[in-house]
Formats: sequence, structure tokens, C-alpha cells
Amino acid sequence: MFLTISLSGDAANPATDLGYLLHKHPGKAQRFSTSYGTAHVFYPEAGDARCTAALLLETDPAALVRRGKGKGKGRGGAPDAALAQYVNDRPYAASSLLAVALSGVFSSAMRGVCAARPERAAAPLPLRIEVPALPARGGAPLVRALFEPLGWRVDAEPVPLDTEFQQWGDSRYVRLVLASETLTLAEALRHLYVLLPVLDDAKHYWVSADEVDKLLRAGEGWLPGHPEQQLITSRYLSRRWSLTRQAREALELVRLAEADDSEVEEIDNAVGEETEAEEKPTPLAVRRRAAIVGALRAAGAARVLDLGCGQGQLVQELLKDIRFTEIIGVDVSVRALTIAARRLKLDRMGERQASRVQLMQGSLAYTDKRLKGYDAAVLSEVIEHLDLPRLPALEYAVFGHARPRTVVVTTPNVEYNVRWETLPAGHVRHGDHRFEWTRAEFRAWATDVAERHWYDVEFAPVGPDDPEVGPPTQLALFTIRAEKEAKAA
Ligand code: SAH
Repeated sequence: MFLTISLSGDAANPATDLGYLLHKHPGKAQRFSTSYGTAHVFYPEAGDARCTAALLLETDPAALVRRGKGKGKGRGGAPDAALAQYVNDRPYAASSLLAVALSGVFSSAMRGVCAARPERAAAPLPLRIEVPALPARGGAPLVRALFEPLGWRVDAEPVPLDTEFQQWGDSRYVRLVLASETLTLAEALRHLYVLLPVLDDAKHYWVSADEVDKLLRAGEGWLPGHPEQQLITSRYLSRRWSLTRQAREALELVRLAEADDSEVEEIDNAVGEETEAEEKPTPLAVRRRAAIVGALRAAGAARVLDLGCGQGQLVQELLKDIRFTEIIGVDVSVRALTIAARRLKLDRMGERQASRVQLMQGSLAYTDKRLKGYDAAVLSEVIEHLDLPRLPALEYAVFGHARPRTVVVTTPNVEYNVRWETLPAGHVRHGDHRFEWTRAEFRAWATDVAERHWYDVEFAPVGPDDPEVGPPTQLALFTIRAEKEAKAA
């Protein structure tokens, strides 16, 4: 188990800064003992133009076995054949242990902490990472699907296996080379920390809440938007448990940078209308929730889906009104759902309230039979978070498959953006918006969706309806046609 991290540089920005960034001196080889073996850090090369740090992990099978029994301290020693077999039976441990060693040995670097070279720690760097033999279930294509969206150039070649390992099949190991100029060292390390274990074979174990926290911290800033987020999350969480049990006593696992909750939207911007000078304008997000709740009440909905519920503000609002008997929040982001659960105090809720609400992880780009049969669904500021080519998948999942009687969709009106004082011209309101539509574009989309799926649609402004550019938020209310007919009859 071996990986190298290389930095390129020049006389002005010497590559040997890597030593400062990793908090490990390039001039000496260092050893760190862990309960399952020894981690070595050394520098095969250290010049101005290029500096390479290597992390080598020597596992001690005997210690791994003892860890499994929950006692004893590790020590280096000759593994006996039977115990080596024990470890070989669990190849998944390989890169998981490497990831744990990475976080133990380079904990400060992973948090981006570097007193000696703070500007280098914060800056994107020309990095190259090599893992000569990486167990990769899913092979080179999955390796690329995991790393490329993060800004890595990926070279992943299947490794020919020696006979000893033949039982594992041919495509299990790749020689991985990653290169990037757009990432900080801390980001690079956090990618490895999560994705090396993810590439291991999936095993299903019970996962502690602690593991979820670790994943959310290490994944902060990159995991929420990752196209393979679901695969990463499920693989990571289903395997870490046994490993953590083994490693817990031995390694001081890093507490990665404290999560902050400020990520979601800037839509909480207050919108001024002709209000009294001293009166505080109502935040747009509050107006939007009021408009949505109003539409749901008018439609007589009791069982409601909040699709892309984010941090659960609308779910919280709906819970206040007992006419909403069942409220389901769905989001693709585990992190958002964790925050929502905290906001709603789900764990401390009385039985009666708790029976009205449920949070579920899921992607709206796939049909999901759990979402069938509801009175209404809300898509509040969600559609603009999907890449346009993925939007038809959401349309089908919601309007074609789940088919609630009522659907409320809100999205920004891009025409209004000129009225935001803080928004530079031509910018969208949030970094994760894949598009923002004019009123005409939204109407065209909604009318088309309604036609194709047999709904009627009406439109309403949310926020001050500017005579020139319209309101900041546009709302579409879809009503299923069969329902109208039934009512009329
Ligand atoms: N509805 C909330 C949050 C809007 S932010 C509000 O009005 O404040 C958009 C949310 O959509 C995010 O929480 C994001 O995780 C979620 N999302 C984006 N793509 C998704 C998908 N394919 N499936 C489910 N949720 C998705």
C-alpha cells in the first residue's frame, strides 16, 4: 500500500514547499506506528522543480486480527501465513487503511493548515498523485467517473496481477495517476480520503452516525455537487464501520474542518417593496414559502412531498399546520438531510408529530415508487440545480411516474437579476444553478410539461412584480386534469 504526492515548482515557488504543506521534513524518513502496522513517509525526490512525498503502509496482519477482537496495541512483526491469509481475504482493507493512514499522518495538511506557507496551502497547486496498485471495484471507468468531475486528469491502467492474487479477478487493481492544477493540497487529500475506500469492494455493515459526520466533513465543498454522490455515499458508509472499529483505538482520526452550514442558497436575500422606511422587508425565502403553503392549502392537499427539501425550512413550515397530515422531505444530499433532521429536532419530536414527517434520501432524476400517491409535490428552487439534459428525467419521475394531483414549482426569474444590487451582470444567483430562466422560458417549459403529462398550469409571481423585469421568483401551479374532471363531475 503505497502512494506518492508530487508538487512541481520553480525558483520562486519551490516544490520543496510540499514539506511545509505536509508538515513532514523532506530531509528525513519518518515512521508512524499505528495499531495495524507502520506508516512511513519519505521523499524520493526533493528539488525546486519537483518534490515527491511517499506514504508507505506496512500492515501487520496480527494487529488487524487483534483489532477485530478489540484489544492490544499493534507492532511490526512477521505476519504468519494463516494471518496473512486473513488479511488477503479482506482486500477492501487495503485502500481503506491507506486512507486512514493518510488522515492520521497528514491531518493538518488535510485541514489546509500551514503556518509556514499559508498562501500556498490556500492556493491551487500543480499536483500529481500516484497509487501504483489501487483496488478499484468498477475498474478504470469508475475511477475516472469519481475523479474527473473534481478537476483531476485521470490515468488509470489495469494492473496485471501476479498469481497469488488471481482469485480476485483481472480488473480489480489499477495503476492510478492523477494530475491537476486547480486543487489545493487539502482538497486533494480529502478526495483521496473518501474515494480510495469508495473504490474498494462494497461490503454491507451497520454504519455509525460518526461515520456519516466524517464523510460530510471530508466531502465538504465537493461531495454535494458530485455526479456520483449517491454511489460515493453508499459505498463509503457501508464499509467504514468495521474498519473504524479496527482503527479507532490506534489512530487519532482527524476531525476535518468544522462543517459550516452556510452553503445552501443566497435566496434569503431580503426583497424591498414599497415598505415603510423603518419596516424590514420580508426575506424572499419567507415569501416563497408563504406562497407555496398558500397554494397547497388552496389545493386541499394533506399529504405533501417536498422534493429537493434542502435544509427542511418548508417541511418545518408545513408541520405548523395540522391540515398537512403527511410531509415527506426528499433530497439527494445527505448533508442537507442531516441539517434538516437537526432543524426539525426529529430525534426529540413527540410521537404524534413524528408520525407526520419523514426525510428520505433519493434523486429526483430517477423514478421512485415511494413517491407515488401523494396529494401534492413541491419543487422549490430545485429544477435550476439540475443540468438541463437531466431535466426530462425529473419531469418524468415527478409528472409521469409519481403523478401527484398538484405540483408547485418555483424557480428564479433571471430577468430580475438586474435588480439585485449585489449581483454582477450576467451572473446567476447561486454557484450551483445550472440555468436561470426568463418568464417566457419558464412558461414555455411548464406549458410543455403540462401538455405532455396531462396537467393544467397557472403562473404566479413571488415577491414584488416589477413592471419591467417581473418578480424575483416565478411559481407554476400544476393541477392534474383527471382531478379537474372528477371535481366537475
Ligand atoms: N427546496 C429548498 C432547497 C432548494 S436548494 C428551498 O426552496 O429552499 C436545491 C436542493 O435540491 C438542494 O438541497 C439539492 O441537494 C437538491 N437537489 C438537487 N438535485 C437533486 C436531485 N437530482 N434529486 C434530489 N434533490 C436534488
